[in-house]
Amino acid sequence: MKIHNTLSGKTEELIPQDGKVNMYVCGITPYSASHIGHAMFSVIFDVVRRYLEFKGYDVRHVQNFTDIDDKMINASIETGVKVSDLAESNIIDYLAEMDALNVTRAHEYPRATSEIEKIIEIISGLVEKGYAYAVAGDVYFRVKQDEDYGKLSHRDLESLMAGARVEIDERKEDVMDFALWKSQKPGEPAWDSPWGMGRPGWHIECSAMSIKYLGETIDIHGGGQDLIFPHHENEIAQSESFTDEVPFSRFWMHNGMLRLGEDKMSKSIGNIITVGEALDSFSPDALRLFFLSSHYRSPLLYTEANVASQERALERLKNAVRPAPSTTAGAAIDASASMARFVEAMDDDFNTPRALAAMFELVREINRGKDEGTDVSGAQDTLRELSGVLGVTLDDTNESSDAGPFVQMLVDVRTELRAARQFDIADSIRDRLSGLGVTIEDSPDGTEWRLG
Ligand SMILES: [Zn+2]
Repeated sequence: MKIHNTLSGKTEELIPQDGKVNMYVCGITPYSASHIGHAMFSVIFDVVRRYLEFKGYDVRHVQNFTDIDDKMINASIETGVKVSDLAESNIIDYLAEMDALNVTRAHEYPRATSEIEKIIEIISGLVEKGYAYAVAGDVYFRVKQDEDYGKLSHRDLESLMAGARVEIDERKEDVMDFALWKSQKPGEPAWDSPWGMGRPGWHIECSAMSIKYLGETIDIHGGGQDLIFPHHENEIAQSESFTDEVPFSRFWMHNGMLRLGEDKMSKSIGNIITVGEALDSFSPDALRLFFLSSHYRSPLLYTEANVASQERALERLKNAVRPAPSTTAGAAIDASASMARFVEAMDDDFNTPRALAAMFELVREINRGKDEGTDVSGAQDTLRELSGVLGVTLDDTNESSDAGPFVQMLVDVRTELRAARQFDIADSIRDRLSGLGVTIEDSPDGTEWRLG
């Protein structure tokens, strides 16, 4: 299969070693409630993992929590809650919300504060090799020492500098040098190090965790497009300078940003919809379908109408796997062409909009088959399997599954009555079902129903 690689700027063939795919995804900074942009990247890389597992690869997924940095410290000062308590409660909430969204848990969720030893080992190595220098308790990476710095952003140091918000700091040799270790300021959490009490910079933690848990060269490193520079550029610089293993990651995958109106969703702008708010308004599967309705590298516009339309799409999928009327007069539907189109789309850099289109083609075939009395059970199994690859659950649980076969039976009887031109009784069934909260919709592809 092919994946777009930010590093080469090209779409390249993924060639796993021994069938194994090691994937590191940059996780959240747990300083406040997660917003739906966080849900989006989590769902996207969950689908990457699910699809690679569907292809038979053995995926190992590691995702970090940045539980110490400026944002954590500022939020702790604002709320009066200890940094570690703030991290703990937001991590618990994030994991519960991702469970609700059916995101498969990563194999490891390392936290920066638990990996100080590895971080110090790498910083020390970089200092020894001349890639880093200590100044009054801080340690900086010497960007000019790294000849291919800028290769992920595809820009040289000068143009990166022109676009970057760099703070002039007299102690740095070069304005582009970035902090690996920050000396303790009064009241801040700190750890002992060869340079005195302090804490790690943001970029170094991901190098340390990726190397520790997945090795010196990994297959996929993922995150949002806003992480390409400086975060991922700096991760590459640190890791490859430390290990001398190139590349640090074979593939760099970056998802597009979730937009709310004109802007990227961001706490600093204040245009935030939390995952909790979204889950109050919409079903987890509709949110999932919404995130997958656009290619992962494209920006996605959040509107209530956009997610609500996925609620209806979800109902169409669920309706298609509900039991067919008892008649099985014709031959079984062949779902292999839909399956092939789905795989072709996903093999092409995880093209989920095309994969979903293949699934809805299958839905139409199943609905037609139900009307014609064809055996649709095999096609329904295929639809369930493909939905599962996208993490979408089609079979209703609890009360609706109990009612499902009976509602379907009434809908089938109504279809037969309409065919016999008994419209009065057919309409009466529709109205009485409506009174029980079942909505019936007739279309050229057949009759569909949903609860509520
Ligand atoms: Zn990271």
